[in-house]
Amino acid sequence: MTHPLSRREALAASLLLALAGCTRPGERVVIPVVPLTRTPTSSQARVLVVTATAGFRHDSIPAAVATFRSLGERSAAFTVTTTEDLALISAQGLAQYDVLVFCLTSGELPLAAEGRAALLGFVAAGGGFLGFHSATDTLSRWAEYGTLIGAFFREHPWVQPGRVIVEDTGHPATEGLGESFTLREEFYTFRDNPRPRVHVLLRLDATSVGASGDYPLAWCRQQGAGRVYYNALGHFAETWADPRFQRQVLGAVRWAAGQVGHPC
Ligand SMILES: [Zn+2]
Repeated sequence: MTHPLSRREALAASLLLALAGCTRPGERVVIPVVPLTRTPTSSQARVLVVTATAGFRHDSIPAAVATFRSLGERSAAFTVTTTEDLALISAQGLAQYDVLVFCLTSGELPLAAEGRAALLGFVAAGGGFLGFHSATDTLSRWAEYGTLIGAFFREHPWVQPGRVIVEDTGHPATEGLGESFTLREEFYTFRDNPRPRVHVLLRLDATSVGASGDYPLAWCRQQGAGRVYYNALGHFAETWADPRFQRQVLGAVRWAAGQVGHPC
């Protein structure tokens, strides 16, 4: 559970504590540290899962939260804090985490300018950012968020079983999946094809839903010193309970936290 502070972090924390003189009441005592360039660590990653919604609210949110908790416990790779409180998306708040997850978020979340700057600063300094499903249907009027996550949602023309092709079988978030898999999902399309801007991990086999065209479904990218991953799957609670999807979630967390490397 603990995350050892480097000497530099500890010094920064003590300076900050001296300045602030307090910690937040009602929580376990957590030393706020100023965001520094992060060094990938083999210790447990600290993951903040945000499920706030300002638009559509998915029934699968409880299943998603349970999946994150279960994967963290089973793998011992990460600890999980879940929240709907956007106040945690601040420089001080995010300094306590290695990975930020927008899990089934939606709509124009009331994230003020300070929070937006903190989110971008967190990633630039080496934090991991994961988005699932409607994370691309979130903050759609904020262009820099679109750049961060790779694309904005357009529509979901297909809610049915479809074949998903694994484009990069070597990424921690896809290894072990084989060349393709089939599942029932709400398959997204995006305002424009993110392929030129991202490293595509999964795409929809358009012929499997009676369509044609290129439809990336999961991807990763590097932003500053940080790692970004997005997966459009996750509409149904059944998806979150699917071991093939859980494998992707765990691999994505470990990659975003810098525990395992793979170029994107
Ligand atoms: Zn959905």
